[in-house]
Amino acid sequence: MRAFVIGNVAIDEIMSVPAMPEAGASIFGRQQSTDLGGKGANQAIVLSRAGLNTTLIAAVGSDLRAAMIRQSLSLEPINTCLIECADKASDVSMIFTTPDGENAIVTTTDCAASIRPEHVLISLQTAKPGDLAVLQGNLSDDATAAILHQAKRLGMITVFNPSPLRPGFASLWPLIDIAFLNQGEAEKLTGQSGETAARSLRDAGVGSVIVTLGGHGALLVDHNGIATIPAVSSAVVDTTGAGDTFMAVVLASSRLRHGMPDGLALHHAAKAASLTVSRRGTRSAFPSQAELAAILAK
Ligand code: ATP
Repeated sequence: MRAFVIGNVAIDEIMSVPAMPEAGASIFGRQQSTDLGGKGANQAIVLSRAGLNTTLIAAVGSDLRAAMIRQSLSLEPINTCLIECADKASDVSMIFTTPDGENAIVTTTDCAASIRPEHVLISLQTAKPGDLAVLQGNLSDDATAAILHQAKRLGMITVFNPSPLRPGFASLWPLIDIAFLNQGEAEKLTGQSGETAARSLRDAGVGSVIVTLGGHGALLVDHNGIATIPAVSSAVVDTTGAGDTFMAVVLASSRLRHGMPDGLALHHAAKAASLTVSRRGTRSAFPSQAELAAILAK
């Protein structure tokens, strides 16, 4: 069983600020770290560390950041298929974190947005029914829709994390087996919150809907009804990557048991995400292979 993550990879420049800057403000900050990031790469790294055979399909430029990206990915138990965009700068995220653990993120998507379906469809040729096709919101609408259609034709389980939000997502729901959203995304997409938002996405055609609620935990709505799990309490340092950790561990926990997301998978994910929020950074904050093995063993 394998996972194919088709999404973005970026360099995260993480800066701590006393408070989020207002429009027009000029404030002091401290450079906390430079780390590998991008939702696609984050999710692929945690999936692979959790023990799922994972391939990341993403695009990079031909610059210094691309070399950093390749070097960082080579340290992970992951397969990569990196498309080189010679005329573009590798994607970058500027992440501002405040002392209360909140963050705000600005991401460039020049490389991710230039991924064409034909780049990806070649890599999916080896996919088997039951493998995961995992996408986020960084590709163009056309590429996202074409890849999801092909994944369905191949009998793959399609997973979608509609972040960042784009206007074209409404037509995609019938193609999605598993959707992950945070509370803000759920509200913007459906005009509702929590369980009601999840039910409305189920009505739109999604099989399993998981809504994460930050420090309040998460809920799953599927054909069995609703399951809710609390967050695992933690000394919060930096929430960057919490949602990506949570999503990847739900997927790994359920697929390694040959199932779909369930309460146990959400519980495993809450434990893993509590480790991520207790550490600064992105890749460096994710649980290690040993930590994930211990979590998934229980
Ligand atoms: P981010 O964008 O910061 O990566 P997100 O907005 O996608 O995250 P959240 O809903 O904030 O996702 O968090 C995902 C999961 O991480 C939660 O369901 C919870 O299990 C865990 N988590 C987040 N914040 C906290 C916290 N303060 N304490 C403990 N666990 C947390």
